[in-house]
Amino acid sequence: MAKKKNNKNINIYTFRFNFMWVWAGIVAAIIIYSFFGEGRAVPVTSDWNTVEQMIRQGEVERIKVVNKNTAQVYLTDEAIAAYRAGEENSLFKNLPEQGEQLNFTIGSVDILDRDVKQAITDSGLEDNPVTLEYLNETTGWSEILINFLPWLFLIGIWFFFIRSMSRGGGGAGGGIMNVGKARAQEFDKDNPSKRVTFKDVAGLSEAKVEIMEIVDFLRKADKYRELGAKIPKGALLVGPPGTGKTLLAKAVAGEANVPFLSISGSDFVEMFVGVGASRVRDLFEQAKQKAPCIVFIDEIDAIGRARGKNAGFSGNDERENTLNQMLTEMDGFQTNAGVIVLAATNRADILDKALMRAGRFDRQIDVGLPDVKEREEIFGVHMRNLKLADGIDRMFLAKQTPGFSGADIANVCNEAALIAARNNKSQVEREDFMAAIDRIVGGLEKRNKTMSQAERRATAIHEAGHATVMWMLKDCDPVLKVTVIPRGNSLGATWSVPDEERVHVTNEVLEAKLAGMLGGRIAEEVNYGTLGAGALSDLERATKITYAMVAFYGMSKKIGPISYYDASGTRDTFTKPFSEHTAVEIDGEVRRIMEEAYERARAIIEANNDKINAMADLLLEKETIYAEDIIPILGESAQTKAAKMENPATEENPTPAMAGVTVAD
Ligand code: ATP
Repeated sequence: MAKKKNNKNINIYTFRFNFMWVWAGIVAAIIIYSFFGEGRAVPVTSDWNTVEQMIRQGEVERIKVVNKNTAQVYLTDEAIAAYRAGEENSLFKNLPEQGEQLNFTIGSVDILDRDVKQAITDSGLEDNPVTLEYLNETTGWSEILINFLPWLFLIGIWFFFIRSMSRGGGGAGGGIMNVGKARAQEFDKDNPSKRVTFKDVAGLSEAKVEIMEIVDFLRKADKYRELGAKIPKGALLVGPPGTGKTLLAKAVAGEANVPFLSISGSDFVEMFVGVGASRVRDLFEQAKQKAPCIVFIDEIDAIGRARGKNAGFSGNDERENTLNQMLTEMDGFQTNAGVIVLAATNRADILDKALMRAGRFDRQIDVGLPDVKEREEIFGVHMRNLKLADGIDRMFLAKQTPGFSGADIANVCNEAALIAARNNKSQVEREDFMAAIDRIVGGLEKRNKTMSQAERRATAIHEAGHATVMWMLKDCDPVLKVTVIPRGNSLGATWSVPDEERVHVTNEVLEAKLAGMLGGRIAEEVNYGTLGAGALSDLERATKITYAMVAFYGMSKKIGPISYYDASGTRDTFTKPFSEHTAVEIDGEVRRIMEEAYERARAIIEANNDKINAMADLLLEKETIYAEDIIPILGESAQTKAAKMENPATEENPTPAMAGVTVAD
């Protein structure tokens, strides 16, 4: 029974056909038949001695020997009536009136024949009616069913597996025969709950223009052809996760007045060989029938990954076949006029070059992380459905969230509403948004974590160490706030704001960052003389950055301007692209850079240790302190001083009050 809701919230139960009902029916029929089938009373199982007695009394009319092993005994009408009346033997009260009354198993036909004749003779009756018949009988219905039941059962299981396999694997209408069909969804424009328009996509103005142009190609193809232009075959949306690629494609579907088929890259993957290629063929077949039409393939890297050299070794034959089919469909002998393929991926760098060339995906549309203006617009889109308190400043929130993707912002809005609801508020307030941002960046707050006073102080010293070094080095990101409230896996955190206008990351910036990261551990060392294990994540991040500086960015003089970075990700992990000697040199350079950063941070911390202790005291008292609280202790930050030097016009503008996503814990 399926439960349906109508718009008046009345539940109506409607019957929906399900194949399981057929099986249930068959099983029920078998059970009913075996109990009540053939509508007859059951003959009594007996033995030769009883039957011999009956023959002697002249009560047996005939004996039917079936298949040489069972004797069916038919009594005379008088005897049946007498037994059923219970006169002779109460055991036989239920003897059937029709058919045989008794049966028994015989040892040998010859012996039975002899014994029956003997019993007739012994009866001394002149007219003893017993006749003996021999026959071979085929089995009854119930036996046939019982014999076939295991087979039926096995066939049923097989059928069930095939059905679920092909359904799960994307057979268009279910069934094994449809396994090679592409399961593309045609977008239903008329369904208002699914309809997404460009109004729902905030920011991304360049991407929107490009993508709308593609829709225009389809709708007004003649205009372009008259000028001799060829219609592009495809566009690839590339960008980090959650930046709105799928959303953009959905908006195209909602806005374009052409059919829109959507499928995910992983829908081509199946456990059967050759299915991927066949699904690609089928997808384009469907698209051509609907042309002009747009096909959207989400997460195309599932099939579009660069083909390897040793396919046999990596076992990727099937994926490569699928990709080859895609290449042929997009630009082969086949004409697929009027079909434009949109695809989305996070990793354009690992896609096969042949897929990316002009003539296949002619256009690559970058969908990057939103800037502050775009983040403000995205907040606007996701706040539409929230009940907001007055005076929520979207620009302020946008400034708090550098590096956040559209999906992160959607999450902040939702989390803020949840926090407000948890605190029984009737509106979502500014601090709910702040708490949501903190939670998303730092993890769940753990105020109840048990910590001794000494541990709390060590954490405060650690965070004050980070903050002080970052405050003193102009190339570090400005510090926004420092906290000793445990969150997620960390006991405290120093938040800084990445400078969004800084597009060039130089070695100076990275070296300053390293010093800032090491500051926490050094402050502990200077104050307690011990090395804490709590600096693990700082050290890990610092080491990764230093390796990248040396081996990828060519920032070490000794190694030179060489990059061992492998953007395609196809290099196997066992072989290094450099010699043992270079490996030793890289290690040496990494150590040198780290040590220099360490010394730099240590000098700052030793010179300012009293201030670090003052900051730690303030932290223990307030738990969270902001840039304004640090100024009285350390003076103006190096970043503010540098900004003033560079641009005296902004003198009144102190360090911007912004939070950020870079957290040193
Ligand atoms: P992935 O690469 O991980 O698949 P994606 O780029 O396809 O990510 P989407 O699925 O489009 O990301 O976005 C996820 C969610 O983030 C959307 O449903 C939407 O709520 C929100 N979002 C992302 N970008 C925007 C935007 N520009 N405007 C409004 N909402 C956005």
